[in-house]
This record gives sequence, C-alpha cells and structure tokens, in this order.
Amino acid sequence: MKFSILSESFNKMESTTKRTELTQFLVELFEETRHDIISKIVYLIQGKLRPDFEGVELGVADRLAIRAISKSSGIPTKNIQEEYRKSGDLGHASSVILEQKTQTTFLAQDITVQRVYDTLLKIAGLGGSRSQDMKIKYISSLLNDATPLEARFILKILLGTLRLGIAENTVMDALAIAFTGSKENRKQLQYAYNVSSDLGRVAETVATKGLEGIEKFEIKLFNPIRPMLADRVKSEDEAVEKMGSEFAAEYKLDGERVQLHIEGEKVVLFSRSLERIESYYPDIVEKIPKNIQAENIILEAEAVAVNEDTGEFLPFQELMHRRRKYKIKEAVTKYPITVNFFDILYCNDKSCAELDYAKRRERLEKFVKEDEFARYIPMSIVRNKNEIEDFMENSINAGSEGLMLKSLEKPYQAGSRGSHWLKLKREYRNELGDSLDLVVIGGFFGKGRRKGRYGALLLGTYDDENDTFPSICKVGTGFSDESLDQIYQILHPKVVIKRDPRIISEMEADVWFEPELVIEVVASEITLSPIHKAATDAIRKDAGLALRFPKFTGKVRVEKAVEDASTNEEVIALYRGQKKAAHERNRM
Ligand code: AMP
Repeated sequence: MKFSILSESFNKMESTTKRTELTQFLVELFEETRHDIISKIVYLIQGKLRPDFEGVELGVADRLAIRAISKSSGIPTKNIQEEYRKSGDLGHASSVILEQKTQTTFLAQDITVQRVYDTLLKIAGLGGSRSQDMKIKYISSLLNDATPLEARFILKILLGTLRLGIAENTVMDALAIAFTGSKENRKQLQYAYNVSSDLGRVAETVATKGLEGIEKFEIKLFNPIRPMLADRVKSEDEAVEKMGSEFAAEYKLDGERVQLHIEGEKVVLFSRSLERIESYYPDIVEKIPKNIQAENIILEAEAVAVNEDTGEFLPFQELMHRRRKYKIKEAVTKYPITVNFFDILYCNDKSCAELDYAKRRERLEKFVKEDEFARYIPMSIVRNKNEIEDFMENSINAGSEGLMLKSLEKPYQAGSRGSHWLKLKREYRNELGDSLDLVVIGGFFGKGRRKGRYGALLLGTYDDENDTFPSICKVGTGFSDESLDQIYQILHPKVVIKRDPRIISEMEADVWFEPELVIEVVASEITLSPIHKAATDAIRKDAGLALRFPKFTGKVRVEKAVEDASTNEEVIALYRGQKKAAHERNRM
C-alpha cells in the first residue's frame, strides 16, 4: 500500500472532530488495506508501532528531526527552526520546507506503508553512541522520497505528536463495519481486545478470519489482560441488595495493582494501565517464582507498602518512592512491600478466566504458596449486613481502604466495570465525603508565585458511554509548590494545538492537554451547573454537574488510565446520595 493513501486519510481525519465521520474515514481506509498490513495501519493510526505493553518507543527529539530535515532538504537548520517557531508544529514545518524543495527536484520513488513502518521500527530499536547518526540517516532517506504531506505525518509519528483523536472504540466500530458488515459485532471485538490488549492483533484476526477467528481468541502468556473493575456501592445494605444471599468479601488494599505473568524464572509485571513495571519491583521478580507451583501462570495482586515492624498496610503514596530510575535498590529496602494475590487468570497453558470466583480462589490457593512476602488477600464469605460490617472493621483496622465484594458464581470479566465486583469504601457511608479521580483536560497559566507553571487545571470525568471527557470543575487549591512543579513537568509535554475531540467543555482553558493524567480531588458538594458538562441532562435538561470548592488532595494517580477515572454515573450517584442525606437530616 502506498503511504500516500494513508497520509491522505490522516489528513482527512485531522480535519474533523465528529466521531461518525472519523468512523467512516476509517472504514474506507480499512476496506482499501491489504490484510497483511492491517495491524500496522491500526498501530500507526494511534501513533504507535506496537501495542503499548511492548513499550516500543520511537524517542526522536525535535533537534534530531530538524537535523534530518536539513540533511534531506539541504536547507540550513536555522531556517527550519524558524519555520517550526511559526507554527509550533514540526510536522507542518517539514512539509512547508519540502514544498520548497519539490518544486526543484523529482521524487525518486513512491514510498509504501511497509517501508515507513519498517524504517520507524528500526529507528525505535537503535540505541548506543552511534544511534543518533543512524537515526538521521534513516529519517532523511525516508524524507528524500516523501511528498510534503507524507513528510508531515512521518514526522508526527516520529515525534509522538500524531493526535487524530481516534479512540479505541472508534477503531473497533470501523473494524466491525468493514470486516463483519455490522457495527453490532463490536462486542465480540471488544472481548478479543479485552483479553489481548492488542488492537493490531484484533484487526488482523477479524480481517483474515472474520468473527470465527475472533471467537477463538485466547488469553496468552506475557500478553496483558485488561483488568476487571468494580462498581461502587455506598452502604452495606446496597451491597446485599446487589449481591444476593452469599458472596465473598476481600480487603480492599490501597496499593498498586500488578498483573504477574510467570513461567519458570521469567517474570513480567504489568500495571493497571498495562505498562511494564518490573523495574520498580525487582523484589517481586526475584522472590515470587519460588512460590509458584505450576509450569506457567497469570495472577493478579495488589502490591502494598507495609510497616515491617507492625505488619500494618501503608497508604499508596509510600509506593511512589519506588517509581524512579536510579537507586531502586535503596528504595526497595527502605519501602518494603507484600504482594497480596486476589485472582488467577491462567495456569498450565490454560485460561482460568471463565471459571467462577470460588473455583479461581481455590486454584489460586493451590498454585501459589504463601509466605511472609506473598500473601492471599484476606477473604471471608459473608451473608448479611452484620457480617460485612464485622469484616469491614477488621479490614480498616489492618490499614486497608474498605472491602471488595465479589460474586461467587461469576467469571473474570476482562476490561469491564460491572456489578459482579463491588467496592465499598468506609467513607461512602456519608454524603459526598468521597474523593473523585478526574482527568486533567486543560490548564490555566499561573500568576504571581505560580508564574511559569499552571495555576489551575480544568478537570473532566470519563463518560464511558460516549468515550468523552466532559468538564466538571476548575481546581486551583490544594497544590503545594512541589506538586505545581511536578504537575507542570508532567503536563507541559502533553499540550496539544488541536483540542482532543473527546474533551467536552464550554470553559476555555489557556492550554489543552492530551487527556492522559488522572488526579484525585475532594469537594464540598456537587451542584447543577450551566457551564460544566459532566452528566449533562441527567438531572436537569441543559444542566451539567459541577464540583463546588474542589481541592486537589496531593495524589497524582499515575497508575490510573483515563478510562479508570470517575464516570458520569459515579458523579450522578454521589449527587443523588447527598440529596438523600440532606433530606434525611431535614426529617430528623
Ligand atoms: P478503585 O481504584 O477505587 O477503582 O479500586 C479498584 C482497585 O482496587 C483495583 O484496581 C486494585 O488495584 C485495588 N484492589 C485492592 N484490593 C483489591 C481486591 N481485593 N480485589 C480487586 N482489586 C483490589
């Protein structure tokens, strides 16, 4: 396939923010694509070369790209920098530069998607002292044969600035339409994606083998599974109502979720957002294999910081000390953990995900041996409110956040939030009291002491039905100087020129961010709002919900993906909860 077809398609996608149009462009592109390169096209659409969990990074800096453009065009770097400054977009600048060049030279040959992809993959694989020169050589040789439009997109992919605003759901809609004839079949594709976390593999399978291939999709060792998530409930009564007569209660520990894939001595660890995290947990990699009594296994656990003297669980923040590149050995000794297993998804070459909870727990206890470091998460079978309350008491006393309640008969539902798992935190029993995890969508430049950083942030919920991020508040309190610095460092590189179409906001921020960061806030109240967009129309027509007096708690939830942020439903439930509480207070 010619790369020009893909760049023209990208060009059209960049010009719209409408999901239906984007889907239509994707369908047209997929229908034109040869099956052996469809997975590559799907990765490239998302600005990637491989699925996230493989951690393949292009890592090309602006300076290097400028040198490559200069080498290919013969135009001095100074002029390219000047062009770059004008638009703030190096991809665009390169197309302007090459436009000047193509007026005087002939293009040598058409470039193909395969060639661009292979070259980018080679660049990603380069390291070491001579890699800079090699990268420049590869990039400039591509640019030599590229049209200005192609150059624009090659550079955007290289620099990590290709942002077409296409969500995974949109890609799956388009795949279903193109290869199965109906959007309805998205569900099956979603399942395949949930167990593989690899949209390229899903695309290739549906293109070559249709739905039949998708139905045979299986969990694979060292290929992460998208985690199952829990709905929240506010009271023991509500939990009993939803769970029925007998169910499991587990401690809800406040640590980091870890998915462990183990075969012999080989250990791969994935975070909740499916990044590789072995480097933060060398102790898990070293110690856990000896606890495993199976050929191979996939497990889920909560890694929790502990007080070695008392055995008490410590809050999540303690683990953050391990998120560093250097001196990790010291951090491991200084901030010890235990690994608390709560699920098993695969064992001895077979999936266990479709087994019910009771059987999975049985297998977990059979195939994992406990010791000081590796524990089973404390669990008790409960039948009524009193039993939940008793177990909650134990859990809070041990330093955990509350309980996870799990239906005994249900399988593991990868990638979905549902009522088979419920979380009951202690604070939910009172009105708002609870914190919210919100997505940072925009920023406002700071003044005075906050100059040069963001003085306030615009936050959104996650609308999981429409895959959008509607605004819910602007927050400017609760930030220490240190956290302002840290947040600026994280967010500055995520500034985008074109607002992501998934951001829904009437409030104009000074800058818009790629929605990637989740922070925790508390607030005094949830109110109806004419400005903010979360849960618009849900309570009253044309009104959204907003947080009153929001305050940052100091917690940057780096372990959370934006899709794990608080949803509109959760905010609606909190809004209704506070109404009910006020009503009851008035009656007393
Ligand atoms: P939340 O982050 O509030 O949505 O809660 C879900 C998270 O709780 C999971 O992603 C896990 O990291 C964590 N967790 C703690 N204890 C458990 C447990 N017993 N079962 C499942 N998840 C748990």
